[in-house]
Amino acid sequence: MVTAVVGANWGDEGKGKITDMLAQQADIVIRYQGGANAGHTIKNEYGKFALHTLPSGAFSKGVVNVIGNGVALNVRQVLKEIREITEKGVPAPNLLISDRAQIVMSYHVLFDSLEEARLAGKSFGSTRSGIAPFFSDKFAKTGIQVSELADMDALREKVEGLLVQKNLLLTQLYHQPELKTEDIMQELAEYKELLAPYVCDTSAYLWQALKEGKNILLEGQLGTMKDPDHGIYPMVTSSSPLAGYGAVGAGIPPYEIRRIIAVTKAYSSAVGAGEFVSEIFGAEADELRDRGGDGGEYGATTGRPRRVGFYDVVASRYGCRLQGATEVAFTVLDVLGYLDEIPVCTGYEIDGKVTEEFPTTTLLKKAKPVWTVLPGWKCDITGIRSYEELPENCRKYVEFIEEKLGFPITMVSNGPGREDIIYR
Ligand code: GDP
Repeated sequence: MVTAVVGANWGDEGKGKITDMLAQQADIVIRYQGGANAGHTIKNEYGKFALHTLPSGAFSKGVVNVIGNGVALNVRQVLKEIREITEKGVPAPNLLISDRAQIVMSYHVLFDSLEEARLAGKSFGSTRSGIAPFFSDKFAKTGIQVSELADMDALREKVEGLLVQKNLLLTQLYHQPELKTEDIMQELAEYKELLAPYVCDTSAYLWQALKEGKNILLEGQLGTMKDPDHGIYPMVTSSSPLAGYGAVGAGIPPYEIRRIIAVTKAYSSAVGAGEFVSEIFGAEADELRDRGGDGGEYGATTGRPRRVGFYDVVASRYGCRLQGATEVAFTVLDVLGYLDEIPVCTGYEIDGKVTEEFPTTTLLKKAKPVWTVLPGWKCDITGIRSYEELPENCRKYVEFIEEKLGFPITMVSNGPGREDIIYR
């Protein structure tokens, strides 16, 4: 049986923590999309870690971690993360990398930076990890699949062909020196060696594992708002963070994904540009940002301050629906204990009309938040382990949001640690 842990919002909902928790009962944890452009923050008995490409099962003994075909594979980054965790005493993770995954090349990172610089003020706020150029190549059918490393002669011919177009762009559009086939081949030879211990036909492996009744976790990166189809296009990511894409990005049958846990944070945050209706500003925002998450809302990958806002039920209901949530994990609730009153965005006003449906980006640009204000609980709820022990106003907040969402909140997270969880 397969469980997916996915984001209902803009990412950074605390998926890493929920996956890390569930990974303890899992046999296999799979990353199926995205790349090193986002990160999970995980706090456990070994310390605090920012994972970008390694599946969160990396900390759980006996778990097989799979980097699926849908991932933008940054080889050096994967190995760097393995080094980082093993240096802190974590046993070397059991890792399998799909032979159908494609490789993020150094030129993807280069093109990402050059394009962001060229767009200057109009940029996408990319993390410059090469993700958009990588996926452009993948879908233009000019990407490099791990399996191709088996035939370096054929690969050389391919690289020579690729460089014709890339060098034209480099010299004419970006005024940069040309790339050389030799350098690219050297990079690929390095990857071939580094990847050798991990590469396999992961979809065949997973098919067998499913037959044996293994417990499998799919780990999503970012959230619904960043989906290229259903999110705030064009301020989205380049691969689908939806649970449904898990079937494609891991190579498993869609009907196997039975449990879909949409993770949503008790307030909102977003990194990078794009529509964010319930965003707040000024001192109010600074306070929430600094109290937020675990040590403040700053990007796990970039360290950039995240934009913050109050909870948005319009976006989150849509976010859960598109994920196909069978249940919801409601996280970082402890952070809101300082507020006298807690505004919740319950509608969008667009051209004088109030809607509860999440619109397309064009309309979203005009949307103004409609607030419903709930009373705060004014105390620290960390350490509480049963739902009934939460202060009444805190329970009312959870229940108000659950009712508005229309999806059952089965877990409430009230701290960054594995044990900081309340099951309902
Ligand atoms: P992800 O990308 O969805 O995994 O999200 P992040 O890695 O950005 O996680 C959000 C941050 O919140 C991390 O620093 C977590 O350690 C922290 N976190 C997760 N759940 C909770 C919680 O319930 N309370 C608090 N205070 N922090 C949490």
